[in-house]
Amino acid sequence: MLVADLKRRKHRLKMNNLYFGCTTCHIFVDAGYRHAYWTLEDAGVVSRSTPVDVHAVFDADEYWDVDAEWPWLENLLPAVRAFLKAHQNHEIRFGDGDELGLTPMYDGDYRLFDWLMEAGKVYQELPRYYVERMGFNRWDQVVEHNRIGTPPWWWHDDEYRDAAKQKFLSLVTK
Ligand SMILES: [Zn+2]
Repeated sequence: MLVADLKRRKHRLKMNNLYFGCTTCHIFVDAGYRHAYWTLEDAGVVSRSTPVDVHAVFDADEYWDVDAEWPWLENLLPAVRAFLKAHQNHEIRFGDGDELGLTPMYDGDYRLFDWLMEAGKVYQELPRYYVERMGFNRWDQVVEHNRIGTPPWWWHDDEYRDAAKQKFLSLVTK
């Protein structure tokens, strides 16, 4: 049900969020939505069908040269640059949530729980984030965190929450 709802919601959007994702480390960053589309994809710097040429992105001046009237981009781009530098010898892909496996495509598609979001807001609350960024090592800390704050969508789906818990537990018992 929930996955179908997500898909319906996505169909109404003209453009999806766009990301850079390292398929070696399963770490990803927000690429900058429309700005990334126009200055990178539409400009032919990146494509969704081939790995990202990091140097071509570094050379895309239009992408890095953002107006001060877009503070969220000004804040985001240094993190994107650091991400590309850190993962430049790995396979980096450019795409939306469907293409990276962040958006479940069928019931029981738990690939999103392999990922850690390094910069950006959507999708931040995932098991690896709780362990690697928030330093949680007990599931009840996650429960409490989501009791106080706004839980991510998967928290409301028993099967997804259970899969997230299994992932979380496998990370903290390593
Ligand atoms: Zn990597």
